[in-house]
Amino acid sequence: MALIVQKFGGTSVGSVERIEQVAAKVKKFRDNGDDIVVVVSAMSGETNRLIDLAKQISEQPVARELDVMVSTGEQVTIALLAMALIKIGVPAVSYTGSQVRILTDSAHTKARILQIDSQSIHKELKAGRVVVVAGFQGVDEDGNITTLGRGGSDTTGVALAAALKADECQIYTDVDGVYTTDPRVVAKAQRLDKITFEEMLEMASLGSKVLQIRAVEFAGKYSVPLRVLHSFQEGPGTLITLDEEESMEQPIISGIAFNRDEAKLTIRGVPDTPGVAFKILGPISAANVEVDMIVQNVAHDNTTDFTFTVHRNDYHNALQVLESIAREMGAREVIGDVDIAKVSIVGVGMRSHAGVASRMFEALAKENINIQMISTSEIKVSVVIEEKYLELAVRALHTAFELDAPAGKVE
Ligand code: ASP
Ligand code: MG
Repeated sequence: MALIVQKFGGTSVGSVERIEQVAAKVKKFRDNGDDIVVVVSAMSGETNRLIDLAKQISEQPVARELDVMVSTGEQVTIALLAMALIKIGVPAVSYTGSQVRILTDSAHTKARILQIDSQSIHKELKAGRVVVVAGFQGVDEDGNITTLGRGGSDTTGVALAAALKADECQIYTDVDGVYTTDPRVVAKAQRLDKITFEEMLEMASLGSKVLQIRAVEFAGKYSVPLRVLHSFQEGPGTLITLDEEESMEQPIISGIAFNRDEAKLTIRGVPDTPGVAFKILGPISAANVEVDMIVQNVAHDNTTDFTFTVHRNDYHNALQVLESIAREMGAREVIGDVDIAKVSIVGVGMRSHAGVASRMFEALAKENINIQMISTSEIKVSVVIEEKYLELAVRALHTAFELDAPAGKVE
């Protein structure tokens, strides 16, 4: 017998029929003898609908009142799911965040969980009930309703699992797991049985949007085993864990992430003297622009070229700042490029294997793809390339690192 926290997202509870399907699924686990706590989101589209309503009154609604309102979305689904469970003979009870006492700070619309009182839930479980908890919401010290930020139900699920010391936190969604790369780009992408928290964070922040990043961080910090599964299809999903077992079959690379969200800026011919990097990047960060990759090249004439990437939304802002820096420093020129993409190979296996980066470069060279920038970390190698080669690059790397599904086994 296990204690399992199951989180169902908005599309999984998007209609009364689906809520009844979720109830049937929960019943199956219950019939196996497991203790179940369910966390649900609002019905799909509901949170947006509520926010739109508020915006009809005010472009910038008071955050406290916005939380009072958007938290109702989840209050509807917990009650409906509890009713659906009771209807099929499963004793169940719903709890709002404040009834559980999911204590948060007072940062309305982006609150952080401080503490969870698990007593009442344990009592309900002991009495044989399934406990259905509203995701995304909590309560501050003064009793104000708070919410955790968009997509926050994932975090509720993980936090509850940590507080209850659950055996597993299962996130049910509309995909059947985490894939080696986006199956829309590589038809031979495969579902991963397992991935480490660290790898998942790299994959998530690099553009594979399966789970809220904050929830993965939380799960890693408290060692909560996390599983991503399809809401209405059978299957083992993908387990996200701490352990990096060294097995011969374990591929060196777990996945290939990519994004088209970045833009590249180059300032050419600045004096190669101490403090240059700071002179260039200081004003960029003062303008609230986050820099991702950075490359500096030294030329023969004691000048240097400096290239970095920023989010595409920050491109125009960064370009303006850089042009004024260039005038001040007497730089030769400023060049911007938005037609780039970043491709990364991710895998904890890199720690114990040499030559991973060169294998990546070889695969790209074979396709005649020019690498513009490179950055590495312990478990990741990223390159910037021309955007039009992105899909070709991802496919070539997927094959080169032996991630392709065997023929006939395309999922
Ligand atoms: N209902 C909230 C949202 O749409 C929270 C969630 O779905 O996780 O952002
Ligand atoms: Mg969601």
